[in-house]
Amino acid sequence: MLEQELRDCIKEIPDFPKPGISFKDITPILSNPALCHKCVEAMAEWAKRLNPDIIAGVESRGFMFGFALAQKLNIPFVPIRKPGKLPREVFSCSYDLEYGSATLELHKEDIKPDARVIVHDDLLATGGTVSAAIKLIESAGAEVIAAQFLVELSFLNGDTSFAQKLEKHSLVSY
Ligand code: IMP
Repeated sequence: MLEQELRDCIKEIPDFPKPGISFKDITPILSNPALCHKCVEAMAEWAKRLNPDIIAGVESRGFMFGFALAQKLNIPFVPIRKPGKLPREVFSCSYDLEYGSATLELHKEDIKPDARVIVHDDLLATGGTVSAAIKLIESAGAEVIAAQFLVELSFLNGDTSFAQKLEKHSLVSY
C-alpha cells in the first residue's frame, strides 16, 4: 500500500532543525523513481476530477511533486516563492511564524482571475504556509479549489480551517 511504502521511506530526524522537533525527511522518496511515480499517479488520480487549471507549488520542496503533478495533468505549474526571487511584478502575502514572520510571492501574470488552482506543498504542519499561499492566490482573483500534500502532520493539530472551504488531500498522515 502506498501509504505504508511512504512511511517506510520517509526518515524521521530527531531534534532537527531545533531541539524537540522531529523532522520528516522526504528526500529518500526522490531516490526511488518507482515510488515517485506512484505518488504522482495517486495525486493526479485524486486531483483530476476537480478539473484544475493550475498547480501552484510552494518553495522549495513543493516544486518537486507539484511540477510533476502539473506535467501529469498537462496543466501549468506556477511557483510560489520567498521574497526577492521572482523577477517580474508580484503579489505578496506575509504570515506569522512562531518567531517573526515570512512572506510568499507569486508572479502577477502567472495567475488569471477565475483560474481554478490546486496548491501543492510537500508537507502540512501548522498550516501557516498553505494558508498564506491560499490568501496569495485569492488576492490574484483566482479560486483555490484544493490543497494537496505528500505528508500531513495531523498530530500537531495545526490550523486546518482552510479546509472548510476547499478540499484537502495528503498521501500519508502522521
Ligand atoms: P507549516 O507552515 O507549519 O504548515 O509548515 C509547512 C512548511 O514547512 C512546508 O513548506 C514544509 O516544507 C516545511 N516543513 C515543516 N515541517 C517539516 C518537516 O518535518 N519536514 C519537511 N518539511 C517541513
